[in-house]
Amino acid sequence: MGKKPYESPTIIKIESSMSKAGLPSMQQKIRKDIDGVDIHELTDEYGSPLFVFSERKMRALYKEAYEAFSSRYPNVQFGWSYKTNYLQAICSVFHQEGAIAEVVSEFEYEKARKFGIEGKDIIYNGPYKPYDSLKIAASEGAKIHIDTFDEISDLEKVADELGMKIAVAIRLNMDIGMEPQWSRFGFNIESGQAMDAVRRIEAGGKLDLNGLHSHIGTFMLDANAYKMQTTKMVLLMKEIEAHTDYIITYLDVGGGFASKAHLKGVYQPPEIAVPSIDDYAEAITSALYENLEHGNYPRLYLETGRHLIDEAGYLITTMTGTKRLPDGRRNYIMDAGVNLLYTAFWFKYDLELTERQDGMMEPALVNGPLCMNIDVIDDSVMLPRLKRGSKMVISPVGAYSVTQWMQFIRYRPSVVLIDMQGQTHLIRETEELQDVEARERLPEYLKHE
Ligand SMILES: *Cc1c(COP(=O)(O)O)cnc(C)c1O
Repeated sequence: MGKKPYESPTIIKIESSMSKAGLPSMQQKIRKDIDGVDIHELTDEYGSPLFVFSERKMRALYKEAYEAFSSRYPNVQFGWSYKTNYLQAICSVFHQEGAIAEVVSEFEYEKARKFGIEGKDIIYNGPYKPYDSLKIAASEGAKIHIDTFDEISDLEKVADELGMKIAVAIRLNMDIGMEPQWSRFGFNIESGQAMDAVRRIEAGGKLDLNGLHSHIGTFMLDANAYKMQTTKMVLLMKEIEAHTDYIITYLDVGGGFASKAHLKGVYQPPEIAVPSIDDYAEAITSALYENLEHGNYPRLYLETGRHLIDEAGYLITTMTGTKRLPDGRRNYIMDAGVNLLYTAFWFKYDLELTERQDGMMEPALVNGPLCMNIDVIDDSVMLPRLKRGSKMVISPVGAYSVTQWMQFIRYRPSVVLIDMQGQTHLIRETEELQDVEARERLPEYLKHE
């Protein structure tokens, strides 16, 4: 056995007020496998860092959410929010479960179409929809949710060009007692703007308004906000039907349900702070029953993204180097950082080790591999002394990570799906230089000999 490298002793002060929820955990959190597949086998085969998704968890979350709504309301349809995670394998699982597609850009629209989703099964949201893409979506019968007055004009032009009346919905925003209000999307109800938009559409005579949409925020910890939202949508629906010839056949209440992730600044654990899917479903469907006339039940669309995928996603990362910082904290450099975890700014993740380590727990700063000071996975977590090469499993990271990840100085890593039988499938390969440079052009005169 070789000699241990010398390291001068340090005295570390462990602040007892590190966490307002109580003393920091002195327990080592250990995870040896994901759905029965050993973590080290995964990294031996697919490398590190590595994103891993559990199909079992995805399907279980979907079924639970769908059940929560469909058991309460007769006419429910889910739309998978592509931007939350648009890897084909992930979309495929949710489409198999019965979800249609919800997209927020022409790129996502193209992606859904190429994937074989018909226009009528695509909900097209977003504050900017290029004209050509609106035209394609309209001709393919997509559910277009109008965001601005300019888009009304664009669609009227499209209607002229196509020589047809286009069925549309409008996006709404409203006061639901939360700050900040997401008032930049769609038409505001309280100011009368939403009704103005309806009047504007009616005056044009080229569009047929048949739906109302709103998406009030993301990671909404207050189920009651959805009750207010749904109530205001139904009241507007009644106003529209009373004063125009339009019949509103569907209400789309968007997404935004929280996952069991730990939002920074929320001191209660997610098990307490996060409403259950039944709470959300109850809030929405009770508002429908309280405000709709009996028997007149428009179709209810949901666009929940995060809630269905976040807890199904893990990021395995390897410790590549360590030292002691001047302030006494131990510092670990991992091979994954905010390049892969854009959401690290908002969430405190669960960090689990794959093996129990000797030695006392001490506060650590866990960094990624970027040469940026902001590359922080966790700035204060209790960890035992980690050995170089040891693995850590970061979760939940299924929502938004593989759509918001960036290529800054590193290749994006492989993504693996573990299927219902516990078999692993590579669903996205690690990038290489070719992927990053494929679209570059070097002018002739700048080429070197
Ligand atoms: C992002 C988004 C969603 C999904 O939001 P989650 O918070 O992931 O549930 C749904 N609808 C619209 C319009 C969105 O922009």
